[in-house]
Amino acid sequence: MFCVECGREGELVGALCRDCYSKKHVQPTIADHVDLTICAHCQSMQTDKGWEDIGSIRQAAEAAIEDSLVLPKDAKLSDFRVHLSEKDERNLEAKIAVMLVVQGHEFTRELLTIVRVKRGSCTECSKQQGRYYEAILQVRGPARTLPKHLEADVERLVRDRVGAMRKSSREVFLSKVEKVKGGLDFYFSTVNSARSVARELQEVYCAEFKGSSSLWGRRDGKDVYRMTYLVRLPGIFRGDVVALGGREFYVRGMSRGMLHGIDLLTGEERAIKFTERTECSLSQSKPEILKAVVLSEKERELQVLDPETMKPLEVRKPRGFSRKGDQTRLVKTKLGTYVLSDSW
Ligand SMILES: [Zn+2]
Ligand SMILES: [Zn+2]
Repeated sequence: MFCVECGREGELVGALCRDCYSKKHVQPTIADHVDLTICAHCQSMQTDKGWEDIGSIRQAAEAAIEDSLVLPKDAKLSDFRVHLSEKDERNLEAKIAVMLVVQGHEFTRELLTIVRVKRGSCTECSKQQGRYYEAILQVRGPARTLPKHLEADVERLVRDRVGAMRKSSREVFLSKVEKVKGGLDFYFSTVNSARSVARELQEVYCAEFKGSSSLWGRRDGKDVYRMTYLVRLPGIFRGDVVALGGREFYVRGMSRGMLHGIDLLTGEERAIKFTERTECSLSQSKPEILKAVVLSEKERELQVLDPETMKPLEVRKPRGFSRKGDQTRLVKTKLGTYVLSDSW
């Protein structure tokens, strides 16, 4: 069999040899320039479907090149490789090896183009820049103040959760965090993210939770509401010592409306239903708890150096007491003096 074009003998595709067939029919093309718009803030890329997280500029460039390839009829792209070299800050030269399958035969062609990188601002970043929000989460402390250490804890928890949610949903972000009288205000881009974080705070801190909406305006002929979630933290937190019914408890944890306490006299654990009406009073807050050097330890007692009087003090050990170093936590209240186990 001979090629009808060049007369060469050998394997034919239709009536032509591979070379002639390739020259005549396998001509993929690409424009001289391929434009790529990248968000200057988050590196997402503008596509037909909107803004998408692609990964790196290199991956974005490959995606844009693939979109711009024009293949000959009946050809299937089996693979393509891109070699990028930077011509200047905004222009990348791309050498492309295109592997095609036509009529069961594989061909490789080389193409050249310039990727022009443009900077833009994606929808979400534009909203963020514009301080867009759909919900406010108000976190308030007890008695109209939010202690400093709690403020930091709450802010860390909120930012962590938002960061985690943002990984699966680009539209979730905090547009503003404001210190206000009595606590913190978090401005959320979506209602659902604000509600979910508010619920979590309620759970973690046994806090009071309220939601309310207010008419904000109209968009596309529909009323648009903004939500406000109020989370009011109780005056008691993990690590505090509280008094209840004449006994004192170390607060080991709080969740789902329950306070998980340890009776400081016996070392027994007790779950206490915790509501606004629980007659629980704060004996000593976590930051007030002292550290005392242990002088000697017996089976039932501990002798510590009282850091306030600098005198030795005998304290009964609660059940299950253990310590890691030569210091222990010391609690002195009106009702008694206790040491806290490091295992709590
Ligand atoms: Zn030929
Ligand atoms: Zn962006």
